[in-house]
Amino acid sequence: MLFRNLIALGALWMLLGQTGVAQEQKSPPPTTERPVATPVRPKASPTPTEPPITFNSVHVDGPYIALTFDDGPSATLTPKLLDLLAARHLKATFFVVGQNAADHPDILRRAVKEGHEIANHSWSHPNLGKMSDEAVRRELQKTDDAIAAAIGKRPTLLRPPYGSITARQKKWIHDEFGYRIIIWDVDPLDWKRPGPSVVTARILKETVPGSIVLSHDIHPPTIEAMPATFDQLMKKGFKSVTVTELLAMETPRPPKPTPSPAVPHATAIPSPSPVSSPPPPTATPGG
Ligand SMILES: [Zn+2]
Repeated sequence: MLFRNLIALGALWMLLGQTGVAQEQKSPPPTTERPVATPVRPKASPTPTEPPITFNSVHVDGPYIALTFDDGPSATLTPKLLDLLAARHLKATFFVVGQNAADHPDILRRAVKEGHEIANHSWSHPNLGKMSDEAVRRELQKTDDAIAAAIGKRPTLLRPPYGSITARQKKWIHDEFGYRIIIWDVDPLDWKRPGPSVVTARILKETVPGSIVLSHDIHPPTIEAMPATFDQLMKKGFKSVTVTELLAMETPRPPKPTPSPAVPHATAIPSPSPVSSPPPPTATPGG
């Protein structure tokens, strides 16, 4: 009788043990992302575990925008632009081409003195997305050095020419240089020189709080467009800050009513090209 009871007990023990194993197998492996005690509502960020590296715009509470100017500095046009900005107490970010920066360190110094930000836009404006890591590294390092030599401070932002950069490049560039990758959400296509009033109208139509506005301080009509553009943006209540200041203002994006988690970014282009941000390099020499 005792023997039988023992067998029954043993069988029960094994059964319980198996159930325990089955439960363990069913439950997902524990990770650090899982809430421990209180369930936490997932953040709207596409990568909740890591801070994002790339920005097309920034979600902010307030009328803040970033005006960005690429491809300079220009010996004649950039000082004119600085005058226009200073007269209105507006701040901008200059994504400079390294070889131009090396030619005009005085313009960079003036820009910084007046509250603007200087950032990296490569040395010679190539399509980084199609280059070897070593070649990209040289483009970025030379520009980083030229900026540091001019203003005594290294840049913390990169805008790849044409917005062309692969996801893998973003990661190693961020790891090596500490750069955040800045694209844009407002593109007036000013490099096509459509006329100053068209540039102004396009920027006014597309700019929303948190926008990163792209323009180029190497085209005379772009500079001509800026007085009206600045005045009308200010009339609409927008306040211009540097990109780094805008990033510091970022607040979580509210969850969308119809989320599409399969798409990492609404702007991603499903193409074999290495470009992961708009506009595609074949469509525009912008940026
Ligand atoms: Zn550019």
